[in-house]
Amino acid sequence: YRKSLDLLKGQPSVTLDGRHVELAGNIGSPKDVEGLIKNDAEGVGLYRTEFLYMDKEDAFPTEEEQYEAYKAVLEGMDNKPIVIRTLDIGGDKELPYFEMESEMNPFLGYRAIRICLDRKDIFKTQLRALYRASVHGKLRIMFPMISSLEELLAAKEVVAEVKDELNAEGVAFANDVEVGMMIEIPSAAVISDILAKHVDFFSIGTNDLIQYTCAVDRMNQKISHLYNQFNPAVLRLIKTVIDNAHKEGKWVGMCGESAGDQRMIPILLGFGLDEFSMSPISILPARKLITSVSYEDMQNFANEVLSMGTAKEIKAHVEKTFNL
Ligand code: PEP
Ligand code: MG
Repeated sequence: YRKSLDLLKGQPSVTLDGRHVELAGNIGSPKDVEGLIKNDAEGVGLYRTEFLYMDKEDAFPTEEEQYEAYKAVLEGMDNKPIVIRTLDIGGDKELPYFEMESEMNPFLGYRAIRICLDRKDIFKTQLRALYRASVHGKLRIMFPMISSLEELLAAKEVVAEVKDELNAEGVAFANDVEVGMMIEIPSAAVISDILAKHVDFFSIGTNDLIQYTCAVDRMNQKISHLYNQFNPAVLRLIKTVIDNAHKEGKWVGMCGESAGDQRMIPILLGFGLDEFSMSPISILPARKLITSVSYEDMQNFANEVLSMGTAKEIKAHVEKTFNL
């Protein structure tokens, strides 16, 4: 099996009938680039920058420190596309030097883009570092936890300010940086037709999308049986998001855990997902699956799945069809 995976290195991720998708990796630090190269990742679909912040003990990482980290990833991946997500703290992630009031529901609270739009100083430092690093590769910037058009436009406004400032200072940056957002909150999925007009891409974050769609805390063991990626409501939302983006000519990725799951890939492929971002070790197995099926068959399969009413039925159908 190992050998058959090795043979897939350097091969395109394309179905039997010619549909190409991008298989990218999720990383948390420049050190992870090595694992991506070893597993033949076609890019980075999610660089979780919060680790850069969590590794510090007494202060936010400086613009220079961030610039060096982003540059290392962009250069390390040799001009392949790199999605860098802006700061996503709050929820379960805290910073020792940034005091946050304790909250009744941290996952519904002050986190991610909500913090960045409130503390523009923190946000701007990161955006400056990102745009400065953009000359070193193919950068895609992504905002986490967007729940409305207002937030997306506000975040883009800060991007515009930062670009104006860099221009005024005569600092170089790439002019083809794609700007996108995560779809991980149901309200964003529901208005994805509108949001799609204002982004270059979406990346679906199933880890949170499942939690928020089903009102199931992703950390709570007691109710973990209710946290299910095959939930028909979740699958319908995913399908809606992909269709809405494609109508606007925008591409859609997924960087939640489901993107690397052998049981989800046939469904997602059939839905028309363009990019799958996963932990590096899942990349070659995903390529093996994708290169062994036809897109048309997966579209038919995904349509069958969409007509089913329970997660249990859907999961059983996938496992039976693909001998998993
Ligand atoms: C997600 O929510 O699916 C996601 C990729 O973000 P995180 O797991 O970092 O919350
Ligand atoms: Mg998330």
